Amino acid sequence: MQPADTPDLTRASQQDAHQHPDPAAQTPPESRDEPWQHAARGANLLGGDGTLAVTIFEEMTTLALSTGAINLGQGFPDQDGPQVMKDAAQAAINDGANQYAPGKGLPVLRQAIAAHQERFYGLTPDPEEGVIVTTGATEAIAAALLAFTGPGDEVITFEPFYDSYGAMISLTGATHVTVPLLVPDFLPDLGALAAAFTDRTKIILVNNPHNPTGTVFPRHILAEVVRLAELHDVVILTDEVYEHLTFGVPHIPVATLPGALDRTLTISSAGKTFSFTGWKIGWLSGPPALVAAVRTVKQFTTYSSGTPFQGAVALGLGLPDEFFTRAANTLAAKKDILGAGLKAAGFDVFDSQGTYFITVDTAPLGIDDAVTLARRLPQLVGVAAVPIPVFCHPEGAERTRSLLRFAFCKKVDLLKEAAHRLATLKDKL
Ligand code: PMP
Ligand code: GLN
Repeated sequence: MQPADTPDLTRASQQDAHQHPDPAAQTPPESRDEPWQHAARGANLLGGDGTLAVTIFEEMTTLALSTGAINLGQGFPDQDGPQVMKDAAQAAINDGANQYAPGKGLPVLRQAIAAHQERFYGLTPDPEEGVIVTTGATEAIAAALLAFTGPGDEVITFEPFYDSYGAMISLTGATHVTVPLLVPDFLPDLGALAAAFTDRTKIILVNNPHNPTGTVFPRHILAEVVRLAELHDVVILTDEVYEHLTFGVPHIPVATLPGALDRTLTISSAGKTFSFTGWKIGWLSGPPALVAAVRTVKQFTTYSSGTPFQGAVALGLGLPDEFFTRAANTLAAKKDILGAGLKAAGFDVFDSQGTYFITVDTAPLGIDDAVTLARRLPQLVGVAAVPIPVFCHPEGAERTRSLLRFAFCKKVDLLKEAAHRLATLKDKL
């Protein structure tokens, strides 16, 4: 490597605060960027001056910890999931399930994933060839993008988009094409969706229910995604990690729509449904030929992981329907508590139909820069949140510049205390 090409890591490692650069001030990728720099730029982690940040989730969690603020930034529950699953994982460790799992995952979990897809959606993926277990949904997303896309290809996502999509699409060398989700419903304009497809489009990556907006896509939007994917012969990659966490609206898996099955890879994870985000057990299912391609890459990103947790997740997927209904209802009540608090604090609150998250507009409080506000909020009122513009490209960042995301997957008392603190914001600005 020529010295001129050597990445300047000095500044990055010296920069302790790891502040997220302003997404509106991002520079376009440079052709001589190294792959890691492509990944960083794709997730808005590389500032125009070359400074390197950690993800917005890590930045805000670190800030919340250092200020003692209530962390409504990073989306993780503050209560564990089912005791039976914890017991099963502990028993598995004690019983010696401590060596590599098969590359595609323990048979018991692959069968449970297939049975879960059939019980809830009538889908029948083949547990042998149509299902793989991954290291969280994150690995499934990465392996699928690496499997199918490269320089010259285009990948479509809605915007705002989950940060790992931007990072991984850029890492593959593909171009990330975005379709805005528009306030107040955070649905796309169907003309803009159609216009995003070209003969270079390889994948449309859908996230439903959608992080960060809380949108659950209605059937006609998903049907249009499928129609366009068929027309342009594009793979649909669908991230449905919040599949069970919807509030009064049904979750419709893309794969269930007419014409979708043969071209759709569905991703999910135990993290959200069972409140075990640290276990990092995810999965991907779909047509065997597509799954085999992803599995080929996945073999070399981790091979396999989480052996003692895999059986416990199999058990969780087999829990009765009431478990899943109760998880959604409990979360819906929390959303209502925080939503009312945010409204009382003076924000415009958008309806959240699913996920762990609710989005507000800070403009009624005279704020037009949610990135700056998110950095000040822990000091000002003792609550951390995440700004929406960091999930966007520059134009989208401008469009969403006053929007902020709050996580409500926390204990009720904590949410009430956060609402109480946020009510003091207007006097402190
Ligand atoms: N996709 C979305 C939309 C998410 O919100 C998250 C994490 N919260 C993930 C993927 C990653 O899931 P996992 O922790 O299973 O890797
Ligand atoms: N998905 C979680 C969120 O959206 C965070 C996951 C992470 O920290 N990478 O908040």
